[in-house]
Amino acid sequence: MFCENCGKQIPDDAAFCTHCGAKQLGGSAPSQPISTLPKPQPVRSSPPPQPAQAVGGIDLITMGQYLIMFLITAIPIAGIVMLFIWGFGSETGPNKKNFARAYLVMMAIAIVLGILISVVMGAIMASIMGSMYYY
Ligand SMILES: [Zn+2]
Repeated sequence: MFCENCGKQIPDDAAFCTHCGAKQLGGSAPSQPISTLPKPQPVRSSPPPQPAQAVGGIDLITMGQYLIMFLITAIPIAGIVMLFIWGFGSETGPNKKNFARAYLVMMAIAIVLGILISVVMGAIMASIMGSMYYY
């Protein structure tokens, strides 16, 4: 027979499903007169290929919106503020949210790298300047 909860095949006399543990109501009867054929599941045929524009429910970011976002992120402080609002705001769509978060991560990496490079360059410059005084 088949589990009433998950539909997997389990022993005919099983009182509980061996897969999900659900109690089987018909399990106590040793021989079920009911057909043990699996329920005709509505097999979903492969969905017709949808054009990318027709995806419902997902906020598609158009090229114009991307351009506006890039322009806003180019503004020094307002851009970062807007990225935080997009990245952690509740009314923002998932695409915009991920974009904003990725942008923030990229920015953080760039800032860290920038600091590291300036520190290294500063150390090199200092050593060059220091050695110049000796000669
Ligand atoms: Zn089950």
